[in-house]
Amino acid sequence: MDLFFIILGVLIGVLVLVIFIRTFTFGEVVPDFEQGQVFDPQPERVAERLSRAIQCQTISFSESQPPDAKVLKELRDVLEKNFPQVHKICEKQLINGDALLFTWKGKNTDLKPILFAGHQDVVPVDENDVAKWTHAPFSGEIVDGWVWGRGALDMKNQVVAVLESVERLIESGYQPERTIYLAFGHDEEIGGIRGAAKIVEWLKEQKISLEAVIDEGGMILSGLLDGVDDPFAMVGIAEKGMATIDMSLEMNPGHSSMPPHHTAIGVMSKAIIRLEDHPMPAEPEMMLPLMRALGKSLPFVLRMAFANMWLFKSVVISEMRKNPRGDASIRTTTAVTLINGGIKDNILPPSAKATVNFRVIPGECVADVLEHMRNVIKDERIQLIPNKEIIWDASPVSNTDSAAYMILKETIQKTFNNVPVACQIFPAATDSRHYYAVCQNVYRFMPLYMTSEALGGVHGINERVEIAALEQMVQFFGALIKAFDKDF
Ligand SMILES: [Zn+2]
Repeated sequence: MDLFFIILGVLIGVLVLVIFIRTFTFGEVVPDFEQGQVFDPQPERVAERLSRAIQCQTISFSESQPPDAKVLKELRDVLEKNFPQVHKICEKQLINGDALLFTWKGKNTDLKPILFAGHQDVVPVDENDVAKWTHAPFSGEIVDGWVWGRGALDMKNQVVAVLESVERLIESGYQPERTIYLAFGHDEEIGGIRGAAKIVEWLKEQKISLEAVIDEGGMILSGLLDGVDDPFAMVGIAEKGMATIDMSLEMNPGHSSMPPHHTAIGVMSKAIIRLEDHPMPAEPEMMLPLMRALGKSLPFVLRMAFANMWLFKSVVISEMRKNPRGDASIRTTTAVTLINGGIKDNILPPSAKATVNFRVIPGECVADVLEHMRNVIKDERIQLIPNKEIIWDASPVSNTDSAAYMILKETIQKTFNNVPVACQIFPAATDSRHYYAVCQNVYRFMPLYMTSEALGGVHGINERVEIAALEQMVQFFGALIKAFDKDF
């Protein structure tokens, strides 16, 4: 008996030791790069240029109502006036009418080009919300160090910052080694089929294969994780797919005075609750790159849990499930978004319909979603009808061991005070997914300092960007373009 307890004690001791060693060795070493600026700052100039761009109301209202061609022309005129060097030195093309493509020829045609992607369109502002804006949404007002308006974060800021950095580089007499494309679609908010997809088609026709694509996506955030105060950068290396599934059920109509135990609405409700209570399987390993990058700045318990996932996987999953952002980062999400049923208060509903929107992680597909739904709902009366127009797979996953990724990561750290840089699966759709046809290294990153609170402006009320942060974006793109001069 004594021997049993001795062995048990030794085993527990070893286990605790392993857990602690793994915890303390978990995480990347924080680099110590010297910080630098490529340009003399001209924050007022770039702020003014962004303000002008915001004033053009390039709104994508719906799939069938892309931005007005006249307004897109107005934006092009604003860009032409404000970025004279870009328009003088780079070749400008309009693809499919309104998508903008600039080609800045590099000195060395043996090197593969890089492409900076962006979109000219913005989402609409709800009429009922206009009065809630502190400054009118398309005023582009510059007040107390901020530029206000729709597109200030998504993503006229990035389009203008990239153009501004190229403008300044040309002014300084610089020419890149690699050819650089600036590609700005005009319908990203409604799928990018008219813009980015057509730009990619053109690139394919020219047999152009790209070294890297940089588009919007992850940012430099603070306050996103409980217990982690320091900011960190996230680079989207893939994005989730989309699967919208309609559920439909028909039952006999009749008088409501003698109802069955469950009407069509009741049966549908039960199915909905089952779907919400049984999410798609969790993959907490998806969080590992972020947790490794954060390493020592993680609270001890979180660090221990992620360092010892073999033991604490279920703890990690239940912690992540506690908030929507955490949950969305480890699994395919389920959101019931539409419901319909019934015709009159005293008639049993002849049918009920509901729509579920899934955001699908790489590695899963629509067939997996349908199988999961059938297994969970367990009711053959409910028909599942995939909405073919709102279904696409998750994107491929970009390389993180490529030279392009290392350059991106280093440039982030050299510009933004050695922040930890982590890759992530971006939860929303962007134009980036179209570019995999011509590039394996597609990275979604907006070099912008944000608090999780300010993130609410994206597609929301009071969208605005701080001028100092906008200037920093210009500095970053200048540094990145120069860093890509390297031959690798
Ligand atoms: Zn966007």
